[in-house]
Amino acid sequence: MDSTAQFAYLNGQIVRWNDAKVHVFAPVAKYGIGIFEGIRGYWNEEAQQMYLFRLAEHLDRFAFSQKAMRFDQGPSREELTKAVVGLCRANAFRATVHIRMMAFIDGPGEIGATGPIGTAITALPRQSAQQSIKGASAQISSWMRMPDNVMPARIKCNANYHNARLATMQAQRDGYDVAFLLNSRGKLAEAPAMCIFIVREGQLVTPSGTNDILESITRQTVIELAGRYLGLKTAERDVDRTELILAEEVFHCGTGAEIVPVTSVDRIPVGNGRPGAVTQQLIEIYRAVVSGKDGAYPSWRTPVF
Ligand code: PMP
Repeated sequence: MDSTAQFAYLNGQIVRWNDAKVHVFAPVAKYGIGIFEGIRGYWNEEAQQMYLFRLAEHLDRFAFSQKAMRFDQGPSREELTKAVVGLCRANAFRATVHIRMMAFIDGPGEIGATGPIGTAITALPRQSAQQSIKGASAQISSWMRMPDNVMPARIKCNANYHNARLATMQAQRDGYDVAFLLNSRGKLAEAPAMCIFIVREGQLVTPSGTNDILESITRQTVIELAGRYLGLKTAERDVDRTELILAEEVFHCGTGAEIVPVTSVDRIPVGNGRPGAVTQQLIEIYRAVVSGKDGAYPSWRTPVF
């Protein structure tokens, strides 16, 4: 399989991209028994440096996902940090990348297997999403976000993404950019791979952690940055679908997509149908912080070179 990256990481070694393989009989192939993280590395041209954004928090969630899935012990945080830094160096990237860190059940086991643990990392160049500029159209999905007592919503296990995939395919085939999923109580949960915020009467509001959302690192970052730079407090609470129509602004956020304005929901314009002022300010602040152009929060940026 051709790729823009020369190397991947698999089970303790940097290997050629095409050699990063797993057997079809492994539980990860048979049952999708794996967990992962999506992490961004931001290239700063001026500093000739790449910064991994909030690596510590991603490693915390990587460990939590494995604990919740009863995986055997995998590589330590130190080993994983060395592996991801080593992989970016080996590929000699001079661009912003998206990194995927995966832990999975390898070997010949069946559904209850807890090991052996395979660990893989890939990194590929990926610029910021262009949609940020024009804004996205959202569809309230007829698929429901799976409740935490059906599949653990707080972790990134591969199987959760079949729920996300079904909603995404429906939205795309119906001509929308993104799906918004409601939870089993009919409250707003999240978008596939993104958390949702609204601006209502000038205040930021986002579904609380007990609404079957992934406890997103970008969501936490937005809450922090909005408080510090814009003096805006965020209410974390249940959000009704009609609040999306009342809202002045809606946006969603995640590591991969960053912060994206949502300018219509079910074809109803949000506010005046254009990206809102708070969203645009947050995009600028976020970009400055992740790239290191704004030196605040140095512990959020792990240098690669
Ligand atoms: N929800 C889901 C289901 C996700 O997969 C992601 C992406 N990791 C997010 C929300 C956003 O989380 P984060 O900001 O930590 O990337």
